[in-house]
Amino acid sequence: MRRPPAPAGNPAAAGRSKRPMRLPSTSNLVATLAGTALTAWLLLPAPLAAQAVQDQLPDMGTAAQATLSIEDEYRIGRMVMRGLRESGRILEDPELGEYLQSLGLRLSSLAHDGNRNFSFFLVRDPAINAFALPGGFVGIHTGLLLETRSESELAAVLAHEVAHVTQRHIARGLENQSRASLVSTAATLAAILLGAVAGVPTDATMGAISAAQNLAIQSQISFTRENEYEADRIGIGLLTSAGFEPDAMASFFETMGRRTQLGPDRVPELLRTHPVTSSRIAEARGRAAQEPAVVPREGLGYSLARERARVLAAPPGTDPRSFFPEVEANEPDATVAQVYGHALAQVLAGEAAAAIPTIVRLRDANPGIMAFHTLLGQAQLANGQTRAALETLERARTLAPRNIPVTVRYAEALLQAGRPKKAHEVLLDLFNNVPPTQEQVRLTAMAANAAGDVADAYSYMAEYHIMGGDLPLAINQLELALSVPGLTGQQRAKFSARLKELRDALPKERARMARPAGERPAPDR
Ligand SMILES: [Zn+2]
Repeated sequence: MRRPPAPAGNPAAAGRSKRPMRLPSTSNLVATLAGTALTAWLLLPAPLAAQAVQDQLPDMGTAAQATLSIEDEYRIGRMVMRGLRESGRILEDPELGEYLQSLGLRLSSLAHDGNRNFSFFLVRDPAINAFALPGGFVGIHTGLLLETRSESELAAVLAHEVAHVTQRHIARGLENQSRASLVSTAATLAAILLGAVAGVPTDATMGAISAAQNLAIQSQISFTRENEYEADRIGIGLLTSAGFEPDAMASFFETMGRRTQLGPDRVPELLRTHPVTSSRIAEARGRAAQEPAVVPREGLGYSLARERARVLAAPPGTDPRSFFPEVEANEPDATVAQVYGHALAQVLAGEAAAAIPTIVRLRDANPGIMAFHTLLGQAQLANGQTRAALETLERARTLAPRNIPVTVRYAEALLQAGRPKKAHEVLLDLFNNVPPTQEQVRLTAMAANAAGDVADAYSYMAEYHIMGGDLPLAINQLELALSVPGLTGQQRAKFSARLKELRDALPKERARMARPAGERPAPDR
């Protein structure tokens, strides 16, 4: 589970983070440059930051005339994402990331605007909350995941947030905000990043970062009551089409409604932004009743993800093994998911040897569940059984070729086994076929670097920085790639083309941002 160190000799990689994001294609490169502005701010003294933000933010004009383009939304969303990443609040984990992203895509692909890029991620936070940022970023708190009682309930929350995105409620909400408040939100974030870069982050810096993010999130999810009803209505439609229980939205509202009766300090965060009234529940129920009854096929995926999140998001100082008293007491009615959660907690606590026989049993009883294969591989690796770990993961690969968590864990095992060439090869094959997360791009760079494929490593780090919106650093990495002796003609052509693209895109992007609203291309709505 430990995060691999940054590639040696590549200081740009150190301390950068970790968020699921598609590798940008050439065509939407410009759209991916949103965070570039932030890089520029980092070079400025603090008092100038607000002005710099003002210059870089999309020009909103007045609420009546302005419309945020999807690109503008993406830019703002990414700015907040970057702050969330830097503060370490995003729970980056191949198994959980894969689960949430595929559940989210199952819903969002059915939306009328399903071509839009959606990115679903988990936030390490016990508060029961979920939010949609501009640009298709949908965050689910671990607290909310743990509060749901079925996959349909989790899907209901995701479907509701997806609907806020596709109905462009966020863009409309942002337009209703004054430009000044957007600027102050962004400026706060920028100023804090300045502080964080200038030195070691202090507790005060961390507190301010978190305050700024909350501000940023809250200022972007103040939807109207009509927006909420519309998101419920469209969300229920998505839920049903995707094969989940249409009633799950109403039942999750009810669960949360009951909590508010426990006292004002027990009101879930979600309810502060999404007030649940009895009429809203009744309407959701009524709408669900019109949908055909569905008995969802619920595999183990949901319950395993839930226990995994419970363990990985355990507060510091707690022992996640104690979350599973049924397992510790050897009770026969402990569920498979509880046994899995306990075994994971054991591996993390350095008791891999004790966990291995249990995990072998789980895997042999459910060979189709990749989470058991990957946990077994990790446990064997942690226990020093490198060869066994490789065999376990190779077997999983034959059952599920190009499965993301299996391939990532296999590559980690190969790196530990001193076989970086092979690690580089399997990661490259995977990511030529599925979009990697930013962290996975970094792992690929690390494998390439360890294998002595230094130029490739630099070029992957360039992609890593593009995904993080750090264009100057990306350019720097490509320049380094091109300076490596002994490049093949193919490598040189590829790196040069990408470098040219970035150099062309940077001034265009800056010019675009600086242009007055009236001269900008028509919004794409
Ligand atoms: Zn809502």
